[in-house]
Parts: sequence; structure tokens; C-alpha cells
Amino acid sequence: MNYTKALNNPIFKIIAQAGQELNLESYVIGGFVRDFILERDFKKDIDVVALGSGIELALKVSELIPNKPKVQVFKNYGTAMLRYKDIDIEFVGARKESYLQESRNPIVENGTLEDDQNRRDFTINALAISLNKATYGDLIDPFNGLEDLQNKCIKTPLNPDITYSDDPLRMMRAIRFATQLNFDIEQESLIAIERNKERLNIISGERIVDELNKILSTDKPSIGFLHLYKTGLLELILPELTALNNVEEVEGHTHKNNFYHTLEVVDNICPNTEDVWLRWAALLHDIGKAPTKKFNKKQGWTFHGHEFLGGKMAKKIFERLHMPLNNKLKFVQKMVIMSSRPIVLAQDTVTDSAVRRLVFDAGDDVDDLMTLCEADITTKNPTKFKKYHNNFDIVRKKIIEVEEKDHVRQFQPPISGEEIMQLFNLKPSREIGMLKEAVKEAILDGKIPNEYEAAYEFVLSRAQKLGLQKADN
Ligand code: ATP
Ligand code: MG
Repeated sequence: MNYTKALNNPIFKIIAQAGQELNLESYVIGGFVRDFILERDFKKDIDVVALGSGIELALKVSELIPNKPKVQVFKNYGTAMLRYKDIDIEFVGARKESYLQESRNPIVENGTLEDDQNRRDFTINALAISLNKATYGDLIDPFNGLEDLQNKCIKTPLNPDITYSDDPLRMMRAIRFATQLNFDIEQESLIAIERNKERLNIISGERIVDELNKILSTDKPSIGFLHLYKTGLLELILPELTALNNVEEVEGHTHKNNFYHTLEVVDNICPNTEDVWLRWAALLHDIGKAPTKKFNKKQGWTFHGHEFLGGKMAKKIFERLHMPLNNKLKFVQKMVIMSSRPIVLAQDTVTDSAVRRLVFDAGDDVDDLMTLCEADITTKNPTKFKKYHNNFDIVRKKIIEVEEKDHVRQFQPPISGEEIMQLFNLKPSREIGMLKEAVKEAILDGKIPNEYEAAYEFVLSRAQKLGLQKADN
């Protein structure tokens, strides 16, 4: 089979020539070949394997490019990288790998192309195209990767037990590729993943999160999370989520399965946001429900305070998985903590003051919060479904109206503490705080507009009640 058409980019001719001058064979391999055959968008990175030194090949390639791009050499890994136009090209010498129990870093020796293909994670990632004169464009496919691409199947080139145990990150990668490509994972692989799940312990949180983020960035993350769940990996990574997978019944009262509900919410939010952190918020929005769940005869099942507890749990998760403990965490926590606010609001008639308070509390994140809450509507009752969505439309309209009128999104008090102090000739004191708070409350309740004059009058009348005298200056 000839794939010369995959080698349109002029860089391939340059690599071929460099190989010829050095008298070493080279092949383009991995994701580039896979994505070409799948007709996926080219992601601007290319992996090249050389039978010999990848570093030497990279240096030679650079020499042959007019502007001689800088070659980044990673001596420890025996790899080198250069950028051609906006494409990253990585060069590696073909190698043979063997693994030790306690590490995912293999012992590496030089090898043949076949050795190199053997060490690849999946048959669909082991496809290579020749860049050598006699065989230019030939597909080298020792494991029938092409067939697996056509059958949409993720399969390891060697024994899956060994493949996953050697480098347990591959378990995450299998599930990530299945989600990204909408492929099945071969049964033996799924069984091997389940059997080797504990090996995930040697993988750093950062790498696990990288894969989770890639799963969350797909159109239908539930595919990946269901695989993670069924193989037992999710229990190890996010036990807070798997704890949601149950339905209890007391005296004929059940509650919904919040695990499957959560996956639905995550899928629902995907068409409406690309922001992976908002998708994280969807994933974690109900985690406080397992530890707060209670039953009483009067109310049935309750989850009091689950939002607040969920916010705290989110922080623990971020710490455990070595995720960034910065404004991203703050954002996810805020979304989780506020996740029930718009729903409560939309169950009743939507009042201006409730919307004003929502905008005040959510600030600039109010639109994201609405997006989360709309995705949270998973009721199968069409009347309720419609009612909630209608109410959310009203809330969204009112958010705009209220904001135009009162500017509470980034609330600035219309009258300052200093001015109030001057007005009554006061030092900083409890009274000042109370007056400022009263002004804010009056604005949020819609008693006065967010304007200086109104706030001034309001402060005067309030101060009178507190027995404060206006200073005569
Ligand atoms: P994408 O870049 O879309 O995530 P990719 O297939 O290019 O997909 P990379 O992580 O860039 O994935 O790796 C490039 C190639 O290196 C893969 O196609 C695969 O052949 C090989 N590879 C990467 N990681 C591993 C691994 N953990 N074990 C075995 N082979 C791997
Ligand atoms: Mg890649």
C-alpha cells in the first residue's frame, strides 16, 4: 500500500534526503499516520523514527532547511526536536525497551523498526510510512493497525497485560483515544486494564490529569468516564465520583443515581463550552451529595449543604491530583458551591431581586454558572424540562436587564465609607460597616437604584434611625 499522498508536506522530502546523506533509514510514525488515515485534522506534530541516531538526523535536517531552525536535543532520551514552519517534528532513534516493576521508565537499547513498533502503545499508533528512496510512501503495518483503524478498535501490539503493566499510563491513553476517536477498546485490553489497575499508582497526578483533561475536552466525555468506571480506574482516581453511583430506597422513596446524572451533565455542557474548567465543574458539581445524603420522613432524601462540602472536596481533589491550586480551582469551587442557586431560582417565579443577588454573588462568572445549571437539567419529565429551560431563559434575560440598570456584576458601593464618615464625623467604626452593608442590601433588594443620590438619601434616613447626627460642615 502506498501512502505518498500523506507526504505532501515538503518537510518529508527534506527528511528523506537527510536520511540518504547519513545513510540511515527513517520513517514517519504514530499519531501523524493514524490521523492522516482517519482524515482527522493535522495537529501540527510529526514523529520520525530513525534507524540510527535521531539526534544526528535532526541536525542534518536542520542543515538542509534554508533558515536552519534550532534543534532542541534531549540527550537523556536520545531524541531531538525542531520546528519547521509551525510544525513540531520529533526525531527518535528506533529502540527496544524493557521495563522494571517499579518504574514506567524503561531500559532502552537501539533496535530495529520492528522493535520500535513493538514498544508502541496501540496498533493504530504503530503505523509507519517509509521515507526511504526504494520504499518511499510504503505503509509498514506489522500488527494490522490499518484494519483496527477501519474496525475502530483499540488494541495493543503485544500482550496487553505486559503492555499496561510496563507503562500503566497506557491504560489512561487507551481510554482517552477511545473517547477522542469514538473507538471500542478490545475486550482483552479492558480485562487487562482491570487486572492491572493498581499499577496506576506509579503514574503521577499530572499525567493522569493530562489524560482526564483530554477526555473532558472531547464531545462526549461520558464514553471515557464509563470506561474508567468499569475498569475500576475511576475508583482509584476519583472515588468521590464513584461514591455517587447508587440508588437507595427507604419506604418507597428513591433518589436519582447521581453518578449517571453527573455524566449526563458533563455531556450536556460540551456543546455549550470548550472551557475544560467549566467541564470539571460539571464533573464535580454533585460530589458533596454522597457524604451529605440523609433520609427523613418529612422531606424524603436530602443533601443539605452538599454544594459547600463539594467545594471543599474539590480542593482536596485538586491537591491530591497535583492540579493547579490557583484561580482555576477557585473557579471550579465557586461553580460547585453556587451550582444550585439558579435552579432554586428557576423553580419559582423569577424575581428581579433574586437575579440581582445571583449576579452580585457570581460576578463575571454568572454566565458560566447559567451554562452549568442549564446542563444540570436532566429530568426526563418533558413538562418540567420545558418549564426549567423557560425559566432559565427568563433568568438570562433578567441578568442582562438588571445588569444594565444596576451594575452589580462588579459591585462598587455608590457611596464610599470615607464619605459616610465625613457625613457624620465618625471614625472607622461598626456603624460605618452597617451603613455600607445596608446600602448594598437595599440595592440588591431593589429598594434603591445603584446611584449616588439615592444611596445618599438612604444613608441619611438610616443614620437617623441609628441616632447619628449629620456633621454641619
Ligand atoms: P496525540 O498527539 O493526538 O495525543 P499521538 O498518537 O501523537 O496522539 P503522542 O503522545 O504524541 O500521541 O505520542 C506519539 C506516539 O508515540 C504515539 O502515536 C505512540 O506511537 C507513541 N507513544 C506515546 N506514548 C506512548 C506510551 N506511553 N507507550 C507507548 N507508546 C507511546
Ligand atoms: Mg502527537
